[in-house]
Amino acid sequence: MGLFSRNKRPKTTTRQGGLAVSERVMKNERLSSDFILSAIEDGVVMVGDDGQINLFNPAASHITGWPAGEAVGLDFRSVLTLLDAQGKPYPSENHPVGKTLATGIPSRDSKSVLRTKSGKHIPVSIIVSPIIENEKPAGSVIGVFRDITKEKAEESQRSDFISTASHEMRTPIAAIEGYLALAQNEKIAKMDDNARKYLIKASDSTHHLGALFQDLLTSSKAEDGRLVSYPVVAEIGEIVEQAADAGKFNAKSKGLDLRLVVSGDQEKSSGQVIRPLYYAYVDPNRLREVLQNIIDNAIKYTMEGSVTLRLTGDPTVVQIQVQDTGPGIPPEDVPHLFQKFYRVDNSMTRSVGGTGLGLFISRKIIEMYNGRIWVESQVDKGSTFFINLPRLTGEKALELQRQQASQVSPLDSPR
Ligand code: ADP
Repeated sequence: MGLFSRNKRPKTTTRQGGLAVSERVMKNERLSSDFILSAIEDGVVMVGDDGQINLFNPAASHITGWPAGEAVGLDFRSVLTLLDAQGKPYPSENHPVGKTLATGIPSRDSKSVLRTKSGKHIPVSIIVSPIIENEKPAGSVIGVFRDITKEKAEESQRSDFISTASHEMRTPIAAIEGYLALAQNEKIAKMDDNARKYLIKASDSTHHLGALFQDLLTSSKAEDGRLVSYPVVAEIGEIVEQAADAGKFNAKSKGLDLRLVVSGDQEKSSGQVIRPLYYAYVDPNRLREVLQNIIDNAIKYTMEGSVTLRLTGDPTVVQIQVQDTGPGIPPEDVPHLFQKFYRVDNSMTRSVGGTGLGLFISRKIIEMYNGRIWVESQVDKGSTFFINLPRLTGEKALELQRQQASQVSPLDSPR
């Protein structure tokens, strides 16, 4: 069998004619685990607390190109060399094996690329678990990894199809929207009240379809890292204020009160309010998109009461909160809310239009800027969506702004 291990097993001395009973049981156990490890298609590797490989199954050899006899005894980073998006090997603290060795906590990664012995790059998914002895991590870890080339290729085909289809569909939809708008224009077209009612409905549905295709396009780009982003030093207070202003009309037409509270506001004796400056490195248009989605949701799902935007922070974090007095989100739905197409299944969601893509896109955008988005909610009381972004100090913001200003655009450069 191709399984290679340097595990030492305790010996037993109680003999009953030939092999001792416990020795026989252990031999059988070992045989069956060797069979399992040799038969499965996933690569299995055991790494000791010194970082050296102790066990390497045949699938692990097949995927990495390392014969088990050579891999065992080597440091895991030389054999399971994972590369980041820039093609650089993961430092130990970011490598899932290194992470679990250091913390004793399971870790996983499905975005990395493995460099095989011959230098080939293959996408892999890896799950690493600590070995537990007497209810405590024993120091060694087990990693199970798979070649996901096929899944990645299928995913990319799927996403190409969605991108192309949504892109192609948006053009005729825009034309239909345009003609429907013309038909509703009394100066151009004559029609009775019934026909107008139907046209308004057709207009609403077309608008919804257009939004769905736009969301599909954005989400497929977000998934494979094609979302365009131009991050700059941005003052988040300004962006939040604009988002609040943009949401006011919608809120008012639903009878909701929309307010903005900036914490740390100081009133000068002249009555002028001085706002603290919250700088972060983001693309303002992308952040506006996220805020618009969260505020639109708060208005859409809240039947009465208010929507409150808060901007707060500490020296390292800028935090935006969007709180509503809506129906709240059941605790069992909260962990799934930021997944693609997830919508809470209740009569309220069914009666309110939506695609289930807005929060997925929002999460992808916020994560592009190393931020975090989450929700805290109580059924029948309301929900608060939180966005944390890394805050830039005033000095750092100034320094980056100077750098940006001094970068001569290729169009400006002398020819
Ligand atoms: P949708 O287009 O359905 O609004 P989102 O991704 O923006 O898609 O939101 C996902 C789901 O989360 C919604 O369908 C809704 O069930 C729930 N949700 C989002 N925001 C709120 C909110 N403020 N109050 C209650 N439920 C919400």
